[in-house]
Amino acid sequence: MEGQVATDSASKLADLLKESRCSVALTGAGISVPSGIPDFRTPGEGLWEKVDPMEVAHIDAFRSDPARFWSFYRPRFQSLGEVEPNAAHEALAELERQGLLEGVITQNVDMLHVKAGSERVIEVHGSIRSCSCPQCGGSFATAEVEALVGDEGVPECPTCVAVVKPDVVLFGEMLPVDAMAEAEALASRADLMLCIGSSLEVYPVAGLPSVTLGRGGRLAIVTQGPTPYDRDAAVRMDGDVVADLEEVLAAI
Ligand code: ZN
Repeated sequence: MEGQVATDSASKLADLLKESRCSVALTGAGISVPSGIPDFRTPGEGLWEKVDPMEVAHIDAFRSDPARFWSFYRPRFQSLGEVEPNAAHEALAELERQGLLEGVITQNVDMLHVKAGSERVIEVHGSIRSCSCPQCGGSFATAEVEALVGDEGVPECPTCVAVVKPDVVLFGEMLPVDAMAEAEALASRADLMLCIGSSLEVYPVAGLPSVTLGRGGRLAIVTQGPTPYDRDAAVRMDGDVVADLEEVLAAI
């Protein structure tokens, strides 16, 4: 950012990143909003406008009415697959390349951190990358799933004919055990957790900042709107997520 004068917060966060032994990012929906993916908590936004996410994106909805579930998810998956990462995702990939960030824990299923070049990405809510068969455990790339759609409008496992489920965590489902264990290990090792675009309200992920705090680590929060950790944050930024992270990167 040529000629840009870093704000105090951006400079302070840049300093914290440089002096920390282990920094980790925790990201939520807010980092993907500039890529055109609406945060479903924002009323009247995009794809979620006409449906209640608790109703359609619930494991019970998948089980009781898979045709309705998939009629909602097929176009959503298709459009999510075409979305590109933005400069905020790229800033985190760059921090990792510079050795200033150990990894990214994300609540997002959109794969944008991976697309932006981040190497260590822990997807605690799964991702749109693949689907699997709840019956036999068979795994399918999401791109292959269209070919599995039968007459009922739902993709069926070629082996056991059960309805295939996307590998995203639905409401009412447990988080993947391995990913959550890795996230907790990283949170407890981190002396800086950079929370970005998350309201930090959805547990168990919302408990991760307190793991870092409990081990004497610090929090930096770059999120619009209040979070339960605002008073614990060493740095608090609440502007545009892209502008904020570009500013931090420029101050390194
Ligand atoms: Zn199967």
